[in-house]
Parts: sequence; C-alpha cells; structure tokens
Amino acid sequence: MADLHLNPAHAGVHPATLALHADDPVNVVTDVAPPMHLSTTFRYSDNPDELIPCAELDPTTIPPTTHIYSRHTAPNTTRLETLLAPLLHARVITYSSGLSALHAVLIHLNPRRIAVSHGYHGSHGVIALLSRLSGLQKIPLDCPASDLQAGDVVLLETPMNPTGRAYSIEAYAEKAHSRGAYLVVDSTFGPPGLQEPFSLGADVVVHSGTKYLGGHSDLLCGVVATREEGRWRKLLEDRLVLGSVMGGLEGWLGVRSLRTLGVRVQRQSGNALELVGWVDGVLRGVGGGADDEVVKRVVESVTHASLQRDEKGEVPTWLKKQMPNGYGTVFSITLREERFARMLPSRLRFFHHATSLGGVESLIEWRALSDDTVDQRLMRISVGLEHWEDLKADLVRGMREVLEIVEGEKKGEKP
Ligand SMILES: *Cc1c(COP(=O)(O)O)cnc(C)c1O
Repeated sequence: MADLHLNPAHAGVHPATLALHADDPVNVVTDVAPPMHLSTTFRYSDNPDELIPCAELDPTTIPPTTHIYSRHTAPNTTRLETLLAPLLHARVITYSSGLSALHAVLIHLNPRRIAVSHGYHGSHGVIALLSRLSGLQKIPLDCPASDLQAGDVVLLETPMNPTGRAYSIEAYAEKAHSRGAYLVVDSTFGPPGLQEPFSLGADVVVHSGTKYLGGHSDLLCGVVATREEGRWRKLLEDRLVLGSVMGGLEGWLGVRSLRTLGVRVQRQSGNALELVGWVDGVLRGVGGGADDEVVKRVVESVTHASLQRDEKGEVPTWLKKQMPNGYGTVFSITLREERFARMLPSRLRFFHHATSLGGVESLIEWRALSDDTVDQRLMRISVGLEHWEDLKADLVRGMREVLEIVEGEKKGEKP
C-alpha cells in the first residue's frame, strides 16, 4: 500500500530523522525545544472575512497550526500526532489513554462480535462495557473463520501481555479479511522500530502510548492509527464528543519522548534479549555461570517472543519477518513457588516493583497484584536502559536472598 496520504517530503527519510523533524511544519516559533501551550481556547481570526462558523468547517482541513478549542485540537497534541504519523505510516489520533483509544475504535467500528484472546485485562473491561450497551459478543481469537461475519473485529495483541509471546499479524489479517472482518492490532508491545502492523495487513493499529512512546513513566497516552482518510475524519469527529483528548502537558511530554524513541527501543530490546538469553540458557542447563544453581532453584520457566521456535527449532519465519529488529523489552518468568514471587521484588535494587512497561526504568511486577487471571507465580519484567549486566547481577542477588530467607524460615529463624 502506498503512503499516498503522507507527506511526500518524508519519502526516503529515516525514522530517526523524522522523530526529530517531522513536526517542523507545525513549529511556528523560533524555539529549538518545543514550547508548552496550556490554553484551552484560541482566538478566532482578526480578519472578519476569515470567520467561518464551526458547522460549515471540515475539521480535518483546518491547518494544524490553527486551533479553536482543545477538546478538538491543541498545539502540543497536534504536534505529537504530526510526529507520530510518519513513524506509524498512517494518520494518527491521540487519546487520553490506551483504553480510551481502544474504546474509540470499537465505538467507531461498532462490531457485533469481537474475536480476542486473553491479553491485556483492561481491554476486556472496555469490551465488557460495550457488551452492556450494544450486546457486543466476545468470541475466542482462534475461533473458526466461519464464526466471523462482515464488520466484526479481530483484536490481536502482539506481542501479548504479560508473556511477551508474539502472534502472526499476517495470519490473523488473512483470517479476518476472508470474512470481511477488521483486524485491529494492539501494537503496544511492538512500537515503531520493532513492528509495522500495516505492512502485514492490519486495518487499524492502537497503542498505549503510555508505554514505549512515552517511555518515561510520566504520561498517559493512547494512539489510533489508520491509513484510511475517511476513517480518520470520523474518528476525529467522534473524539470531539467523546472528549478523551490528551492534556497539553502530556502532549508536550510525548513530543519530548519521541525524539529518543528509536534509541530507547533498540537498546531496551537488546538488554531484554541478553537477560532472556541468560535465563533461558541457565534453565536449559547450558548457562555455565557460577550462579546458575540459584536461578534454577527459583525460576521454573521464561517466556518471550525471542524464545519462540518452529518445528525445526528455529525462530519462525513469520516472526523474523514481523519483528526483524528485536522482540521487545517485556518478558515473563514463572517462579517455582508463589512466595518467591511475593518476595523477589522487595529484594531488588535496580527494578521498581510496579505495573506498566516500556519506560527507561526497569520494572518487575508480581502480576497477580494487577491481574487476577494469571499464574500466581508469574513475574512480568520490563527492561529499561540500565546496563543489562547490572540487572542480571541484581536478579541473581535478589534470588539468592529469597532462598536464604526461605531456608532461614525452615530453620525457625526470624527473617
Ligand atoms: C497498558 C496497555 C493498554 C492500556 O493502556 P493505558 O494507557 O493504560 O490505558 C492496552 N493494551 C496493552 C497491551 C497495554 O499494555
């Protein structure tokens, strides 16, 4: 599909450069660092001939440097959307959170059925809310294609929360399209640089921009991307009444964040690959490190897209094509005992015990605290920008302390 609707000036320019310059056309001041605009309302033109009533305006043709009221558009968020568009190869609309973005997409497509797997628990909350209003019916992601009808939605999250396991976008696009259904990809775990869902057949792409796009754990953001001009217009009209826009501060923080998206994502993904490879090697008995016994006594299994194998024991061809530059920063380890999972986070120095992911700080979460549907022994890890060897040493030390506490308890000592 040609990027017809995109700025021809971006052709052949690399994402790293676009992340710094795609917003130049909306930069109307001489500041090098983007200014922060907080006004909710904007003066109409001083020229009486340029005054056009809102009802007669096509809101999508208003120049991106002109604003009326911030529930419609505002300078910081428009600048963020301008910057995101060439990175996502689509028209982009931002929302107050990832869930409000998904909500907007489902209101717009208004499917009768939605095929979805386990994945992010909050998305199921949005689906439940819509089911209450419209009778939307939830069916399994892997339902036979014949269960889907025209206008239905297949919602594919890949890589999937919390395991980091990946699913073939191309295969689900084929299945959805064979029945006239839409493929919506929640690509939160596969930000630009790792995954391009449109090139594999996605109709609509959503991101929780709170995660990698923000990257600093300081803004809530949702993103919807579409390559269909008409859909983009309709979504923009809908957002005006849903009111789920980002705040000015968040839009400004988002622009700041995207400048470094490429380097953050590549380095964090590389760090995750090192850690996953290390844990996997230890569990398969080929680690050869002095601390392997400690890890083996605490960890039962590890999951991450990088560990997926086909019948020949290799990373599946579709996955190499889908994620050619790395498999993301989130992976899960299942520990041998639930009490290990409860204790481990408090023994670590370089991992915050917190939910969320994709930020520059490494996080670990005893996932049972925020999602009651997962294995009680599952720890979700989001790898940040620390040096991976420090993270590894921290994990080993933490695991050793957990074992010491448990052994102390057995001997009747106070922890
Ligand atoms: C966090 C997350 C969401 C929800 O995003 P918010 O910004 O928290 O509303 C949706 N999907 C996935 C895969 C997520 O990780």
